[in-house]
Amino acid sequence: MAEPAQAANPRPRKKRPPPKRAEVIQVERIVPRLTRVTFGGGDMAAFSMPKPGAHIKLLFPEPGGTWSPADTDAPRPPSRTYTPRRFDADTHELDVEVVHHGDGLAANWVRTAKPGDELFIGGPGGGLDIPDGTTHAVLLADETAMPAAGMIVEALPEDCEAAVFCEVADADDERPLSAVRDVSPTWLHRAETGAVQGSLLEHAATALGGMPETTLWWIACEAGAMRRVRKHLMDDRGVEKAWMNTRGYWRLGETNYPDHDYGED
Ligand SMILES: Cc1cc2nc3c(=O)[nH]c(=O)nc-3n(C[C@H](O)[C@H](O)[C@H](O)COP(=O)(O)OP(=O)(O)OC[C@H]3O[C@@H](n4cnc5c(N)ncnc54)[C@H](O)[C@@H]3O)c2cc1C
Repeated sequence: MAEPAQAANPRPRKKRPPPKRAEVIQVERIVPRLTRVTFGGGDMAAFSMPKPGAHIKLLFPEPGGTWSPADTDAPRPPSRTYTPRRFDADTHELDVEVVHHGDGLAANWVRTAKPGDELFIGGPGGGLDIPDGTTHAVLLADETAMPAAGMIVEALPEDCEAAVFCEVADADDERPLSAVRDVSPTWLHRAETGAVQGSLLEHAATALGGMPETTLWWIACEAGAMRRVRKHLMDDRGVEKAWMNTRGYWRLGETNYPDHDYGED
Protein backbone atom coordinates (compact mmCIF):
# COMPACT_ATOMS: atom_id res chain seq x y z
CA MET A 1 0.00 0.00 0.00
CA ALA A 2 1.69 3.23 -1.16
CA GLU A 3 1.69 6.04 1.34
CA PRO A 4 3.28 9.50 1.14
CA ALA A 5 6.13 10.39 3.45
CA GLN A 6 5.03 12.42 6.46
CA ALA A 7 5.06 16.20 5.92
CA ALA A 8 7.51 18.16 8.07
CA ASN A 9 5.75 19.50 11.18
CA PRO A 10 5.88 23.33 11.06
CA ARG A 11 5.50 23.67 14.85
CA PRO A 12 8.60 23.53 17.06
CA ARG A 13 8.72 20.13 18.74
CA LYS A 14 10.60 18.54 21.57
CA LYS A 15 14.07 17.53 20.45
CA ARG A 16 14.13 13.78 20.06
CA PRO A 17 17.02 11.51 19.22
CA PRO A 18 17.24 10.53 15.55
CA PRO A 19 15.71 7.20 14.53
CA LYS A 20 18.07 4.24 14.77
CA ARG A 21 18.95 2.04 11.83
CA ALA A 22 18.00 -1.56 12.63
CA GLU A 23 18.37 -4.87 10.85
CA VAL A 24 15.94 -7.76 11.00
CA ILE A 25 17.75 -10.64 12.73
CA GLN A 26 14.92 -13.14 13.10
CA VAL A 27 11.28 -13.51 12.09
CA GLU A 28 9.09 -16.01 13.92
CA ARG A 29 5.37 -16.68 13.47
CA ILE A 30 4.31 -17.17 17.12
CA VAL A 31 0.61 -17.81 16.49
CA PRO A 32 -1.38 -17.58 13.24
CA ARG A 33 -2.04 -13.86 13.58
CA LEU A 34 1.19 -12.62 15.18
CA THR A 35 4.83 -12.51 14.15
CA ARG A 36 7.75 -11.70 16.43
CA VAL A 37 10.48 -9.70 14.68
CA THR A 38 13.88 -9.42 16.34
CA PHE A 39 15.89 -6.35 15.37
CA GLY A 40 19.60 -5.83 15.99
CA GLY A 41 22.76 -4.47 14.38
CA GLY A 42 22.70 -0.95 12.98
CA ASP A 43 22.42 1.61 15.79
CA MET A 44 20.63 -0.68 18.24
CA ALA A 45 23.48 -0.50 20.78
CA ALA A 46 22.13 2.99 21.53
CA PHE A 47 18.63 1.67 22.38
CA SER A 48 17.62 1.40 26.03
CA MET A 49 14.63 -0.28 27.54
CA PRO A 50 11.87 2.14 28.48
CA LYS A 51 9.04 2.02 31.01
CA PRO A 52 6.44 -0.73 30.60
CA GLY A 53 3.88 0.05 27.93
CA ALA A 54 6.18 2.47 26.12
CA HIS A 55 6.09 2.70 22.35
CA ILE A 56 8.46 2.98 19.43
CA LYS A 57 7.99 4.01 15.84
CA LEU A 58 8.89 1.68 13.01
CA LEU A 59 9.85 3.84 10.01
CA PHE A 60 9.51 2.29 6.57
CA PRO A 61 11.71 4.04 4.00
CA GLU A 62 11.22 3.37 0.28
CA PRO A 63 12.94 0.08 -0.55
CA GLY A 64 16.25 0.97 -2.20
CA GLY A 65 15.79 4.63 -1.18
CA THR A 66 18.47 6.87 0.29
CA TRP A 67 16.68 8.40 3.30
CA SER A 68 18.89 8.85 6.35
CA PRO A 69 18.09 10.26 9.82
CA ALA A 70 20.89 12.76 9.16
CA ASP A 71 18.70 14.35 6.45
CA THR A 72 16.86 16.50 8.96
CA ASP A 73 15.23 18.56 6.19
CA ALA A 74 13.87 15.55 4.31
CA PRO A 75 10.40 14.31 5.28
CA ARG A 76 10.45 11.22 7.47
CA PRO A 77 9.34 7.97 5.92
CA PRO A 78 5.88 6.76 6.96
CA SER A 79 5.83 5.08 10.34
CA ARG A 80 3.65 2.97 12.63
CA THR A 81 3.54 2.60 16.42
CA TYR A 82 4.69 -0.61 18.13
CA THR A 83 5.72 -1.87 21.56
CA PRO A 84 9.36 -2.64 22.39
CA ARG A 85 8.47 -5.96 24.01
CA ARG A 86 11.95 -7.15 25.05
CA PHE A 87 15.43 -5.67 24.72
CA ASP A 88 18.60 -7.62 25.45
CA ALA A 89 21.13 -5.10 26.70
CA ASP A 90 24.02 -7.50 25.99
CA THR A 91 23.19 -8.46 22.41
CA HIS A 92 21.29 -5.22 21.63
CA GLU A 93 18.42 -7.22 20.20
CA LEU A 94 14.88 -5.91 20.35
CA ASP A 95 11.71 -8.00 19.98
CA VAL A 96 8.63 -6.45 18.44
CA GLU A 97 5.38 -8.41 18.04
CA VAL A 98 3.34 -7.49 14.99
CA VAL A 99 -0.32 -8.47 14.53
CA HIS A 100 -1.49 -9.68 11.10
CA HIS A 101 -4.73 -7.72 11.02
CA GLY A 102 -5.17 -7.47 7.25
CA ASP A 103 -4.09 -4.73 4.89
CA GLY A 104 -1.80 -2.02 6.30
CA LEU A 105 1.69 -0.66 5.76
CA ALA A 106 3.17 -2.50 8.75
CA ALA A 107 0.96 -5.59 8.45
CA ASN A 108 1.99 -5.94 4.81
CA TRP A 109 5.67 -5.33 5.63
CA VAL A 110 5.77 -8.11 8.22
CA ARG A 111 4.29 -10.67 5.84
CA THR A 112 7.48 -10.65 3.78
CA ALA A 113 10.02 -9.50 6.41
CA LYS A 114 13.21 -11.56 6.46
CA PRO A 115 16.65 -11.46 8.10
CA GLY A 116 18.80 -8.75 6.56
CA ASP A 117 15.91 -6.33 5.90
CA GLU A 118 16.47 -2.84 7.29
CA LEU A 119 14.26 -0.12 8.67
CA PHE A 120 14.54 2.67 11.26
CA ILE A 121 13.29 2.75 14.83
CA GLY A 122 12.24 5.97 16.56
CA GLY A 123 11.84 6.32 20.32
CA PRO A 124 11.16 4.82 22.77
CA GLY A 125 8.69 7.18 24.36
CA GLY A 126 5.87 7.22 26.90
CA GLY A 127 5.11 4.33 29.19
CA LEU A 128 3.32 3.71 32.42
CA ASP A 129 4.17 4.74 35.99
CA ILE A 130 2.62 2.19 38.32
CA PRO A 131 1.06 4.18 41.19
CA ASP A 132 2.54 3.64 44.66
CA GLY A 133 0.31 1.39 46.74
CA THR A 134 -1.10 -0.61 43.82
CA THR A 135 -2.59 -3.77 45.33
CA HIS A 136 -4.64 -4.99 42.34
CA ALA A 137 -4.51 -4.55 38.60
CA VAL A 138 -7.05 -5.11 35.86
CA LEU A 139 -5.56 -5.28 32.38
CA LEU A 140 -7.80 -5.39 29.32
CA ALA A 141 -5.89 -5.90 26.08
CA ASP A 142 -6.59 -6.89 22.51
CA GLU A 143 -3.89 -8.65 20.49
CA THR A 144 -2.10 -5.38 19.60
CA ALA A 145 -1.83 -4.52 23.30
CA MET A 146 -0.70 -7.92 24.57
CA PRO A 147 3.01 -7.03 24.23
CA ALA A 148 2.47 -3.96 26.42
CA ALA A 149 0.28 -5.92 28.86
CA GLY A 150 3.09 -8.46 29.19
CA MET A 151 5.57 -5.71 30.07
CA ILE A 152 3.18 -4.20 32.63
CA VAL A 153 2.48 -7.53 34.30
CA GLU A 154 6.23 -8.02 34.72
CA ALA A 155 6.56 -4.57 36.35
CA LEU A 156 3.73 -4.95 38.91
CA PRO A 157 4.66 -5.28 42.58
CA GLU A 158 5.23 -8.93 43.61
CA ASP A 159 2.15 -9.10 45.82
CA CYS A 160 -0.18 -7.29 43.40
CA GLU A 161 -3.16 -9.39 42.27
CA ALA A 162 -3.59 -9.09 38.51
CA ALA A 163 -6.68 -9.93 36.47
CA VAL A 164 -5.77 -9.95 32.79
CA PHE A 165 -8.29 -10.21 29.93
CA CYS A 166 -6.99 -10.78 26.41
CA GLU A 167 -9.28 -10.54 23.40
CA VAL A 168 -8.13 -12.49 20.34
CA ALA A 169 -9.76 -14.00 17.27
CA ASP A 170 -9.83 -17.61 18.54
CA ALA A 171 -7.99 -20.19 20.64
CA ASP A 172 -5.22 -20.55 18.05
CA ASP A 173 -4.05 -17.04 18.94
CA GLU A 174 -3.60 -17.75 22.65
CA ARG A 175 0.02 -17.55 23.82
CA PRO A 176 1.91 -16.93 27.06
CA LEU A 177 1.76 -13.29 28.09
CA SER A 178 5.07 -13.37 29.92
CA ALA A 179 8.05 -15.69 30.06
CA VAL A 180 9.06 -14.47 33.52
CA ARG A 181 5.82 -13.88 35.45
CA ASP A 182 3.21 -16.53 35.95
CA VAL A 183 -0.07 -15.11 34.75
CA SER A 184 -3.12 -16.85 33.33
CA PRO A 185 -5.17 -14.43 31.27
CA THR A 186 -8.87 -14.89 30.71
CA TRP A 187 -9.12 -15.46 26.96
CA LEU A 188 -11.96 -13.86 25.06
CA HIS A 189 -12.61 -15.24 21.55
CA ARG A 190 -14.35 -13.07 18.99
CA ALA A 191 -14.80 -15.81 16.40
CA GLU A 192 -17.15 -17.87 18.58
CA THR A 193 -19.79 -15.12 18.55
CA GLY A 194 -18.72 -12.85 15.69
CA ALA A 195 -18.18 -10.14 18.29
CA VAL A 196 -16.98 -6.70 17.17
CA GLN A 197 -13.36 -5.97 18.08
CA GLY A 198 -13.10 -4.66 21.64
CA SER A 199 -16.67 -5.54 22.59
CA LEU A 200 -15.65 -8.60 24.64
CA LEU A 201 -13.26 -6.43 26.65
CA GLU A 202 -16.13 -4.00 27.29
CA HIS A 203 -18.27 -6.86 28.48
CA ALA A 204 -15.49 -8.19 30.73
CA ALA A 205 -15.06 -4.76 32.34
CA THR A 206 -18.74 -4.36 33.11
CA ALA A 207 -19.13 -7.94 34.35
CA LEU A 208 -16.25 -7.67 36.82
CA GLY A 209 -17.22 -7.39 40.51
CA GLY A 210 -16.22 -4.51 42.75
CA MET A 211 -12.49 -3.75 42.97
CA PRO A 212 -10.54 -1.96 45.71
CA GLU A 213 -9.66 1.73 45.23
CA THR A 214 -6.01 0.75 44.91
CA THR A 215 -6.67 -1.07 41.63
CA LEU A 216 -4.72 -0.02 38.56
CA TRP A 217 -6.92 -0.18 35.46
CA TRP A 218 -5.07 -0.47 32.14
CA ILE A 219 -7.05 -0.75 28.94
CA ALA A 220 -5.63 -0.72 25.41
CA CYS A 221 -7.54 -1.76 22.30
CA GLU A 222 -9.61 -0.30 19.45
CA ALA A 223 -10.21 3.40 20.23
CA GLY A 224 -14.03 3.29 20.23
CA ALA A 225 -14.16 0.31 22.58
CA MET A 226 -11.55 1.93 24.83
CA ARG A 227 -13.77 5.04 25.16
CA ARG A 228 -16.78 2.93 26.14
CA VAL A 229 -14.77 1.10 28.82
CA ARG A 230 -13.34 4.40 30.07
CA LYS A 231 -16.85 5.86 30.41
CA HIS A 232 -17.95 2.79 32.37
CA LEU A 233 -14.97 3.11 34.73
CA MET A 234 -15.62 6.79 35.35
CA ASP A 235 -19.44 6.87 35.43
CA ASP A 236 -20.32 3.50 36.96
CA ARG A 237 -17.29 2.68 39.06
CA GLY A 238 -16.02 6.16 39.95
CA VAL A 239 -12.43 5.19 39.18
CA GLU A 240 -10.05 8.15 39.75
CA LYS A 241 -7.95 9.25 36.77
CA ALA A 242 -4.75 8.49 38.70
CA TRP A 243 -5.73 4.80 38.71
CA MET A 244 -6.79 4.53 35.09
CA ASN A 245 -4.71 4.31 31.92
CA THR A 246 -6.79 3.99 28.77
CA ARG A 247 -5.21 3.84 25.31
CA GLY A 248 -6.63 3.65 21.81
CA TYR A 249 -4.06 1.54 19.96
CA TRP A 250 -5.84 1.72 16.62
CA ARG A 251 -9.20 2.80 15.26
CA LEU A 252 -11.57 0.92 12.96
CA GLY A 253 -11.27 2.36 9.43
CA GLU A 254 -8.42 4.77 10.28
CA THR A 255 -4.94 4.45 8.83
CA ASN A 256 -1.87 5.39 10.89
CA TYR A 257 -3.80 6.10 14.08
CA PRO A 258 -1.98 8.52 16.45
CA ASP A 259 0.04 7.12 19.35
CA HIS A 260 -1.41 9.41 22.05
CA ASP A 261 -5.14 8.70 22.26
CA TYR A 262 -5.92 8.41 25.97
CA GLY A 263 -9.67 8.90 25.40
CA GLU A 264 -9.70 12.20 27.28
CA ASP A 265 -11.65 14.18 24.66
C1 LIG B 1 1.24 2.81 21.98
C2 LIG B 1 0.91 1.77 20.91
C3 LIG B 1 1.54 0.53 20.92
C4 LIG B 1 1.22 -0.42 19.94
N1 LIG B 1 1.86 -1.65 19.98
C5 LIG B 1 1.55 -2.59 19.04
C6 LIG B 1 2.22 -3.86 19.04
O1 LIG B 1 3.13 -4.12 19.84
N2 LIG B 1 1.84 -4.77 18.10
C7 LIG B 1 0.87 -4.50 17.15
O2 LIG B 1 0.60 -5.36 16.30
N3 LIG B 1 0.24 -3.30 17.13
C8 LIG B 1 0.56 -2.34 18.04
N4 LIG B 1 -0.08 -1.14 18.02
C9 LIG B 1 -1.17 -0.95 17.03
C10 LIG B 1 -0.64 -0.58 15.63
O3 LIG B 1 0.06 0.66 15.70
C11 LIG B 1 -1.84 -0.43 14.66
O4 LIG B 1 -2.55 -1.64 14.54
C12 LIG B 1 -1.42 0.07 13.30
O5 LIG B 1 -2.55 0.64 12.67
C13 LIG B 1 -0.85 -1.00 12.39
O6 LIG B 1 -0.38 -0.37 11.21
P1 LIG B 1 -0.69 -0.90 9.75
O7 LIG B 1 0.20 -0.13 8.84
O8 LIG B 1 -0.61 -2.38 9.71
O9 LIG B 1 -2.21 -0.50 9.50
P2 LIG B 1 -2.75 0.98 9.10
O10 LIG B 1 -2.22 1.35 7.75
O11 LIG B 1 -2.48 1.93 10.21
O12 LIG B 1 -4.32 0.73 9.00
C14 LIG B 1 -4.92 0.11 7.86
C15 LIG B 1 -6.32 -0.37 8.23
O13 LIG B 1 -6.20 -1.44 9.17
C16 LIG B 1 -7.01 -1.20 10.31
N5 LIG B 1 -6.34 -1.78 11.49
C17 LIG B 1 -5.21 -1.37 12.11
N6 LIG B 1 -4.89 -2.18 13.15
C18 LIG B 1 -5.87 -3.13 13.19
C19 LIG B 1 -6.12 -4.24 14.01
N7 LIG B 1 -5.31 -4.59 15.04
N8 LIG B 1 -7.20 -5.01 13.75
C20 LIG B 1 -8.05 -4.71 12.71
N9 LIG B 1 -7.86 -3.66 11.89
C21 LIG B 1 -6.79 -2.88 12.13
C22 LIG B 1 -7.16 0.31 10.39
O14 LIG B 1 -8.35 0.67 11.06
C23 LIG B 1 -7.18 0.70 8.90
O15 LIG B 1 -8.49 0.59 8.40
C24 LIG B 1 0.25 -0.15 18.95
C25 LIG B 1 -0.37 1.12 18.94
C26 LIG B 1 -0.05 2.06 19.91
C27 LIG B 1 -0.73 3.41 19.88
